[in-house]
Amino acid sequence: MTLTEGSRPGRGVVAADHVSLRRNNLSVVLRHVRENGSRSRARIAADTGLNKATVSSLVAELVERGLLREGQAESERGALGRPGQLVELDGRSVCGVGAEINVDYLAVTALDLSGETVTERRVPLDVAHLDPGTTLDHLAELIREAVAAVGARGGQTAGVTLAVPGLVQSTTGSLKLAPNLGWKEVPVVEEMRARLGDPAYKVRVDNEANLAALAAYSEMKGDDGKVEDLVLLTGAVGVGGGMVTGGHLLRGGHGFSGEVGHMPVAPVGGTCGCGRTGCWETVVGLTALLNKATDADDPVRDPSLDVEQRLAEITRRAEAGGARTLRALADVGTWLGIGGAILVNILNPDVLVLGGYFAVLGPWLKEPLESAIRERVIAPDGGGCRVVQSELGFAAAVRGGAQISLDQVFLDPTLVGRDAAGVAQ
Ligand SMILES: [Zn+2]
Repeated sequence: MTLTEGSRPGRGVVAADHVSLRRNNLSVVLRHVRENGSRSRARIAADTGLNKATVSSLVAELVERGLLREGQAESERGALGRPGQLVELDGRSVCGVGAEINVDYLAVTALDLSGETVTERRVPLDVAHLDPGTTLDHLAELIREAVAAVGARGGQTAGVTLAVPGLVQSTTGSLKLAPNLGWKEVPVVEEMRARLGDPAYKVRVDNEANLAALAAYSEMKGDDGKVEDLVLLTGAVGVGGGMVTGGHLLRGGHGFSGEVGHMPVAPVGGTCGCGRTGCWETVVGLTALLNKATDADDPVRDPSLDVEQRLAEITRRAEAGGARTLRALADVGTWLGIGGAILVNILNPDVLVLGGYFAVLGPWLKEPLESAIRERVIAPDGGGCRVVQSELGFAAAVRGGAQISLDQVFLDPTLVGRDAAGVAQ
């Protein structure tokens, strides 16, 4: 084949290659410092195989972008016979924001690069009875407040990730279907970008269970026992599953995996938000628990009250030995075990993480769940699966969203402007 004029690499291609090579090298240096802690330039060069002059120039740019900063002088003499200056991750100036829409609340969290919480808020909202536009207006207001809080401490927002309880097409930024919200085909990213005034930072959307699983995974990465396979169950009105296998999120062929709340496990169950009967969430979701544990006029059913307040009241009743509450919790725990055993038989996770309301009421749900896993999982000792309560509770999805926004910065440090440095002193 003869190379035609049009396909010959021209100056533009060379320039583009140079830019992407530089971007890649910036990412290599930034990730190296994140994973290994503070380092001298000489040590970074030796470890990464980049030459020292290149590393100096890359570090200078990362400092300008507010991602690295000068640390202390190296205590021991380096290879060149004099102590070098260490560079370290600058956690303060760059933040990621996670923002969640759920059936009865909205939540927002901003995390900085070192994982510290800059701001967080959750507000009760009866989303199921509002139109998508009104809900997105409210959420945009919360995001603007979080971005302003980041700005007030001199930081820069690198990205916003929206968490939604439904089927998401993350490539197009569209929510296909969220039965419990009553939303269908909503271009959430486009709608949110318009409300935020077409911001410079990137806006993404993902399924809330996926984001919660990522947050749980990174929380456990620091633990001694290495966890590479986990299933996280989000317990709210709907129930979702986020699955990490071999250290990677399992998304499925079209990104629609994890809809565990719609496993048809309870043929006698009630009607689900999806219109079918007998879905798992009709017997283990928050509405199922409240229907079993309380009367119709009980204030704990009031979606205008914060969900944690309502759960604190359920906890109080359980601790006081309230028979109806304890019966309801035991029943939900048993059903949780029936579906949980199916997931453990299929996926053999190291850990089954209870998120959302399951985490709050874990002390009553865990025993029947574990006993169902022991009974119904064919592998010996439940396949070695441990059941743990997430310490992140309802904050898991927003934290995962903020982390994903920050992960993008580690992959492409040029997402952060050069004016981020020096403002967060
Ligand atoms: Zn369903």
